[in-house]
Amino acid sequence: MEKKEHEFIELKSIPAIAFKTEKDWYIYDRYSNLILKTKKIIVDLIDDVLSGASLEDVHKKHKSVSFEDVVKVATEIDKIKQKDIFIDYEIKSLSICNDIDKKNFIQTKLNGFLTQLILNITEDCNLRCEYCIYSGLYPERRIHNNFNDMPWNIAKRAVDFFIFRSKLSEARYISFYGGGTLIKIRSYKKGYKLFKKNRA
Ligand code: SF4
Repeated sequence: MEKKEHEFIELKSIPAIAFKTEKDWYIYDRYSNLILKTKKIIVDLIDDVLSGASLEDVHKKHKSVSFEDVVKVATEIDKIKQKDIFIDYEIKSLSICNDIDKKNFIQTKLNGFLTQLILNITEDCNLRCEYCIYSGLYPERRIHNNFNDMPWNIAKRAVDFFIFRSKLSEARYISFYGGGTLIKIRSYKKGYKLFKKNRA
């Protein structure tokens, strides 16, 4: 039997892709990073329902679907949106704020309220997870290698920077990326000691 091609549809109203496997339809929602099992009728109507058009207009456009079904689809989409799915979080524009209070607020946050520093002290993570972004499966990404360790002076500068700019935060976290921490245990301990010593 001839194998059926899988279908992909890029949705227009939200950054999401609908796709069909041999059995079912799914929607991958980019911002929540979730894949939802869905129905074909939702895939057919979602762009129009989310466009802001009235349900009567959606019904006029999809005459083969009863008005009751259009309402059901709209209600279902609404329920999903309440879980922060199917929401377009794209930042359309950025501008420099002219409000001096807001400027001061942002500056204070950036200067004293950092909460987490993540150090990637080696590119030689030893866990080698198959899905890893550095596994070599993804184009234009570096791969695991044992040539690039973070020099101590860079780690120290990062820790100093973080200590200085997190002074006003109630909770501060210093984390180490990937399993590489285990093979660079000395750097890990050194960074942690420096943080403990200077964190006052
Ligand atoms: S722990 Fe993280 S960095 Fe290491 S191989 Fe797994 S996904 Fe990649």
